Order: sequence, then C-alpha cells, then structure tokens
Amino acid sequence: MAGQVHVIDHPLVQHKLSLMRMKSTSTSAFRNLLTEVSMLLAYEVTRDMRTHPVSVDTPLARMSAPMLDGKKIVLVPILRAGIGILDGMLRLLPSARVGHVGLYRDPKTLVAVEYYFKVPKQMQGRDAIVVDPMLATGNSAVAAVDRLRDTHPRSIKFVCLLTCPEGLATFHGHHPDVPVYTAAIDDHLDAHGYIVPGLGDAGDRLFGTK
Ligand code: URA
Repeated sequence: MAGQVHVIDHPLVQHKLSLMRMKSTSTSAFRNLLTEVSMLLAYEVTRDMRTHPVSVDTPLARMSAPMLDGKKIVLVPILRAGIGILDGMLRLLPSARVGHVGLYRDPKTLVAVEYYFKVPKQMQGRDAIVVDPMLATGNSAVAAVDRLRDTHPRSIKFVCLLTCPEGLATFHGHHPDVPVYTAAIDDHLDAHGYIVPGLGDAGDRLFGTK
C-alpha cells in the first residue's frame, strides 16, 4: 500500500524554499525562512484536525464557536535539525506539547542511532506530528516513528521540508499509514545520503556549524 504524501505547492512555500536552497543564503536568513515555512506547513498539517464547540460571548451575542484542543497536539522534532521547524509551528499552535527524539546518522552505515527520547505522558489521547526538515534515507524517520508508536498516540503525521523518492519509499515501506507533508519531492538521494538538488545539510545551515 502506497502511503499518503501531501506536497504543499503553495507559491509562498515554494518561494521561501527556493531562497533556502540558494547556497548564498545566510544562516540567519535560512533560520527565519524555515520558521516562516514551518508556519505554513503547520497550517496544512492541521487542516483536518477536529474542533469542538465552545460557548463564546462576542460583544453582541453568545454563540457556539469551534476550538482546537491544542494540548492534545504533540510536536516531535527529530534532533537536531527538527528544532528548526519547532518555532514556527509553536507560533500557530502555542498550546502544543513537545517531545524530542535524538537520533544521529552513523556516517558509514547511514543507520539511525537513538540517544534521547522524551515525550509527554498519556500519549494515547494525543495527535503526534513528527518534524524533520529532510526526509532523506528515511532511516531516522522510520526509527523515530517506530519509537513513538510504542507510546500509542492517537495519530501520527510526518512533516518535512524536502524529501526524495528513495526516502518516501523507505518510510512508507515501514509506516504506510503515516501521511507525509512536504514542500517538495526532489530528484534523488546521493551516495552520501544527501537529497539532490536539495539544500545541503539542514542542521549545519540552520545552526551555522560549517
Ligand atoms: N540531511 C540533510 O541535512 N540534508 C540532506 O540532503 C540529507 C539529510
């Protein structure tokens, strides 16, 4: 079964992604752009979330108004680059809870190795949104969702900025029921596990570590 992939082709997202791809874009501009794009991705990933009616007094009358239960949403960045998506998403979802999954890619095998995992208690009633700018080999995404599944959240979605056919095939090979939201599906993955044409190393560009 092929998994669901939502490509967010809104012109604002595409324009900002193009700026992020440019190697001349500075660290601070890259960071700001990722925050802005993350807000737009948050808008799309929450599109089908349930609201519940709340009694509200407007200056003119009482009405039943729809509200989200923000506390039931858990944003789960994959460390470290996933942190770059968190700010923008929290601006739109200020009550969301935050979990963290620490994974690094073994540079030789490209296998994901876990070094940290912490999520809120009682995940059973919560909707998890796992975030990482790059869904590349798919190994970290698979490992993060494997681990998250042990906590039994009500639902899981995956949000990234960029992915590629290889990463999507690996991810949906393991988790066909987890929808992926992305701004673009690039051409391919290279031998070092980088997305081409991509934008380089998202963590290094975000934190200025290279
Ligand atoms: N991680 C990145 O930061 N960039 C890639 O192209 C692939 C994985």
